[in-house]
Amino acid sequence: MIELEKVTKIYGQGEKRVVALADVSLQIKKGEIFGIIGLSGAGKSTLIRCINKLEEPQSGTIRLAGQEITNLKGKELREARRKIGMIFQHFNLLSSRTVYRNVAFPLEISGVKPKERDERVRSLLDLVGLSDKINAYPSELSGGQKQRVGIARALASNPEVLLCDEATSALDPDTTKSILRLLQDVNRRFGLTIVLITHQMEVIKEICDTVAVIDDGRIVEQGSVVELFARP
Ligand code: ADP
Ligand code: ADP
Repeated sequence: MIELEKVTKIYGQGEKRVVALADVSLQIKKGEIFGIIGLSGAGKSTLIRCINKLEEPQSGTIRLAGQEITNLKGKELREARRKIGMIFQHFNLLSSRTVYRNVAFPLEISGVKPKERDERVRSLLDLVGLSDKINAYPSELSGGQKQRVGIARALASNPEVLLCDEATSALDPDTTKSILRLLQDVNRRFGLTIVLITHQMEVIKEICDTVAVIDDGRIVEQGSVVELFARP
């Protein structure tokens, strides 16, 4: 589903030069939950930002659903991006919009007709268990509820991949578990490929099929979670 081949990303020049990703190769299969774990500064955000093309690597190739995205521009880029949904540590909801209108937002942008949009928003809120908060504002929600809105919004455009950037790092352990269960549920229900980056080993153990360990811009270990944790 997502293939990275020898991806290198360098920030700055001279004394300020930082190699954020060094020859990173990864294969993420369709329908799996793939975890990327590493310490702060290891290169996790850079990796995700290269996948959704917020950053341009200096070298290497990235393929999404068989299509090389490295040199896409304009309409093709917008279409490729539509295959990707994203959720964030601090949720990134629009504070002046209700829950309903936050989830409707991506559908408004892509020009989905009001009736279809309304049905989609309601079924998504039902899916994430927030139908009773439909007219609430983000400030009236708990962290877990905000992340449920984030998940509904990310799923609105029927993506093939969901990128999760430290999505549970701001949540308490019980709320983290319930959000991970919801992610597992949408993974199974829709065959959605999920890529999550985290610094929390519990998150990897709880729901990931495969894990890559990143350290100082390099993948130092990669394999199935069951195998890696079974090692002596
Ligand atoms: P992580 O998400 O694992 O904390 P990052 O991808 O944010 O790691 O950072 C990897 C390295 O790249 C760090 O050394 C960081 O300081 C550096 N870095 C990240 N973004 C930038 C940027 N925009 N400009 C310069 N250096 C950056
Ligand atoms: P319904 O209540 O209409 O039966 P589902 O439970 O099947 O809805 O789906 C709930 C929401 O998830 C729908 O609004 C739909 O747009 C969205 N959805 C459906 N398929 C996918 C998919 N493959 N990936 C992400 N979201 C999806």
